[in-house]
This record gives sequence, structure tokens and C-alpha cells, in this order.
Amino acid sequence: MPLLPPVKQFVSDTGVRVYRIPCDVFPRLSGRVYLLLGLDVPTLVDAGSGAETCMRQLYEGFEQVRSEYGEPFELGDLGRVILTHAHIDHFGGLPEIVRRSGAEVAVHELDQRAVSAYDERAVRSRHAFDRFLRQAGVEPQRRGAVLDEFGYLKGRIQSVPVTRELVDGEMLDGIRVIHTPGHSPGHVCLAVGDLLLAGDHILSRTVSQLWPESVAAWTGLGHYLDSVEKVARTGPYQLLLSGHEPVIHDLGERLEQIHQAHSRRLERLLEILHTSARPMTIDELSERMYSRQQGYPALLALTDVGARVEHLEERGRIVIADLEEVAEEACPVLRYRLA
Ligand SMILES: [Zn+2]
Ligand SMILES: [Zn+2]
Repeated sequence: MPLLPPVKQFVSDTGVRVYRIPCDVFPRLSGRVYLLLGLDVPTLVDAGSGAETCMRQLYEGFEQVRSEYGEPFELGDLGRVILTHAHIDHFGGLPEIVRRSGAEVAVHELDQRAVSAYDERAVRSRHAFDRFLRQAGVEPQRRGAVLDEFGYLKGRIQSVPVTRELVDGEMLDGIRVIHTPGHSPGHVCLAVGDLLLAGDHILSRTVSQLWPESVAAWTGLGHYLDSVEKVARTGPYQLLLSGHEPVIHDLGERLEQIHQAHSRRLERLLEILHTSARPMTIDELSERMYSRQQGYPALLALTDVGARVEHLEERGRIVIADLEEVAEEACPVLRYRLA
């Protein structure tokens, strides 16, 4: 595992001190939690995964904020945790943080059920994802393995009451809330003066993971691209600080790269279908796009292609080839061809 970078301070043009605390949210994924000081109340943006290593690194990060930057911050001082979105790598640590600090919890209403009624969300989301995998044509044994990679598992996380629902456009203690659905339904970016905390909406290296709307409403490529446009209309920003990966200095340049990446992938899908002798399932398309993946990369490939296929189907670029069969079955495998 590569060594984590040290805690780093960023100061907004409104005088807020933003401390970036790196932590290993999963064994092969590092994340960033942000501590904001200089507001009415000390505020944490995201809470890590809750994994033992991640929590230890978070507390060591607070220690560095004290020792390296002379901030007299203690966990008990924390007044608020704002979640950019309710994915486990961002809110798994929330129950412990709230228990130890008594901080209020602020989440957009479309992500709040995952936090406040975790088990219900876990059961519902898993069912929706299983149905997606069946319709994608993933064969049973592999489907079980991909489902096991799905983050939502009943009993995995203790639910925490949400004390404040975030509303698009509101100012919360000097922080502007920008609802950016796509990567998750209730994803928000947070503008702190000229710093943008971008969560997983805009990352510096990776194209944000997409979910099909058939798995979760308010996700999908259409919502995501609308939210990219929405962020482009805000700012300007000195820097973007994301939930993973390094800072982004040039928002316009990064957004252009993201647009190009999505266009290329859509074109590639259309090209595969154009040259295929027969209609193809999402599983077959994802194998052609990303070769045969196992484990979590298989989940990423299937949801990525699933979201793009849905986008193209909604816009009439591709159609279901075996409509008669599909009409007869409760959960049919869907095969696509060009319109
Ligand atoms: Zn995420
Ligand atoms: Zn994340």
C-alpha cells in the first residue's frame, strides 16, 4: 500500500481553513476527508469508510492538524458532518464520529435514507442491482460474485439520524450547497468561497463511476452530464478538492476531458454494436469494452456500460432486439442493436 500523503491545509478566500486528511477507505482505495475550521462550527466533510485503518488515519489526521498547524481542535468540538454523498467510503465512519462528537449530520434528501435507514436501502438497492445483473445477461455464478462486491449489505452499517437535509443552492454556515446528482442521487458539491469540495462528482484522474437509473433513480449518465454543466456554471474556483485523487487546478480543462471521455465511450459502444453480427447484452458489451473483469472491476464495468446503454436507449440510438421474448418474461435478458 503506498504511503499516504500528509495532511494539507488550503485556505479559501473567505478565510476558511480546509484540512485535507487522506485515509485508506478500502485496501486498494484511498480517500480524503476534509476538516473545515473558521466557520461557526468545526465541520467535517465526509467521514471515511469506518474501516479500522481508515478511522485510525482520520484520528491521526486530527492530531496532525493540532501538532503541525497549531489548531486546538478536538473531536468533541465537531459541530457538523456534511456528506457529499452516501456511498460507504464516505459515510461508513459516520456512526463512530457522531457517537464520539455528538455532531449534527447534514445530507441531501435523496441520499438521506442510506444514512438514516441503512438496512432498508441495502435490501432495496441489492434487489434492484440483482435485477439489473439478470437483465444484463450475467450468468448466475458470476452474478453472485458481482453482487458480493456491491457495497450495500444488510447489517453492515449502523443507521444514524439525519438532522439536516441539504437543499440545492442554500448557504449553510458560509458553504454553498450545489446538488449534483449522477454519481449518486443526492450527491452535493460544496463551495467554500473559492474552494470547491467536489466529492466523487469530479475527480482528477478517473471518470466518476456511473450507475444506471434502473438501479438508483437520479443517477445515470444524463443526470451526471447535467450536473457537470451545473458545476461549470458556478465558480470560478482556485482549486477543486475531491473525495479521492489529487487536487484539480483547472476546472474548465478537466470538465472538457470528462466530456470527451464520455463521448468516446458512447461512440465505442455504438461502434461495437455496428460491427456485431448479432444483438448484444450489457454483459457482452462490457466484456468487449473492458475485457473480462473479475471482482470489483467487473461491477464497475457492468454499471458503466449499463448506464451508457440506458442513456442510448432512452435517446433512441439503440433498441431492444428481442421484444417478443422480452414481453413474455418477468425478468428477461435484454439484447440490444442499433436503432
Ligand atoms: Zn461515491
Ligand atoms: Zn468515493
